[in-house]
Amino acid sequence: MSKLIPVPDELSQPFWDAVNERKLIVQNCDSCNKLQYPPKPACELCGSNSLSWKETSGKGHILSFFVVYDGRYQVRIPDQPYNVAVVTLDDDPGINFYSNLAGTPVKEVPVGAAVEVTFEEVAPGQLIHEWKLV
Ligand SMILES: [Zn+2]
Repeated sequence: MSKLIPVPDELSQPFWDAVNERKLIVQNCDSCNKLQYPPKPACELCGSNSLSWKETSGKGHILSFFVVYDGRYQVRIPDQPYNVAVVTLDDDPGINFYSNLAGTPVKEVPVGAAVEVTFEEVAPGQLIHEWKLV
């Protein structure tokens, strides 16, 4: 499947730098200790802008999934239909990631199953995070 190549901005640059080191990090509020992803300028819970980064366990579970039949990402149109699984992070189930779960047939995503992060090279020197069943 064709992958989207990330374009980091100032907020997400530390996240993508960590991905390139095969680490999955999320923001951690220094005031209330809430984890958050995707990165934002301030804590969504208490509003503090004192945020640091914390490495996660890289483990999660599949909450649900949907199937894309008619998406708008040009590079992915040849792959349609494809799965998009919603993964909850075990460190904080309020945090979601999305995964195509490569190798899992369309509509056969095992909801509730454990997954772990994996990393794939999508361009020279650029990794992305993906998820695989454990
Ligand atoms: Zn906070």
